[in-house]
Amino acid sequence: MHSDLKKILFTEQQINSAVRKLGAQLSTEYVDKQPIVICVLKGAVLFMVDLVKRMEIPLEMDFMAISSYGDSSQSTGVVRILKDLDRPVEGRHVLIVEDIVDTGLTLAYLKETLLHRHASSVRVVALFDKPEGRKVEISIDYCGYTVPNDFIVGYGLDYAEKYRNLPYVGVLKPEVYCK
Ligand code: 5GP
Repeated sequence: MHSDLKKILFTEQQINSAVRKLGAQLSTEYVDKQPIVICVLKGAVLFMVDLVKRMEIPLEMDFMAISSYGDSSQSTGVVRILKDLDRPVEGRHVLIVEDIVDTGLTLAYLKETLLHRHASSVRVVALFDKPEGRKVEISIDYCGYTVPNDFIVGYGLDYAEKYRNLPYVGVLKPEVYCK
């Protein structure tokens, strides 16, 4: 375990198992739909890469990079699109891949944006759900694990751009925040 971590919440094996299950479920749900699978950069990259390998159906991949406006420590839900999708989503089935849903504000904005562009359907797969943090009601259609209201890192999730490459997910020691 990385020495900055207090504990591991999900091992590599537990993550793999959730990703395999979600991939199998999505393969059934999206058979014959050729979905556009959208990765929200950067946190969802590791999850997206592993998930699409488990989706044994034709699909397309696209990427979006967004950043929150205003005070970075408080999610406002008003996001700026830093990198937009390469292709239109009109008339297409869209699956948003998220690392973790906390307040739900980012996802609510993204869903609304894609529906506004006339996607046929917009659903969400999130590896982690932190329901205690929710500020807006948002449905997560497919979810890996529910997590407590701690700040977690690893498997794509960062603290100040670090720890994304850890193959497991854990909670940081409090002193790491105070450095
Ligand atoms: P929301 O708009 O749902 O509050 O924001 C979701 C985004 O906040 C996630 O995509 C992720 O980038 C970030 N986030 C929320 N909770 C955590 C957490 O526990 N750890 C990390 N590293 N990022 C988080």
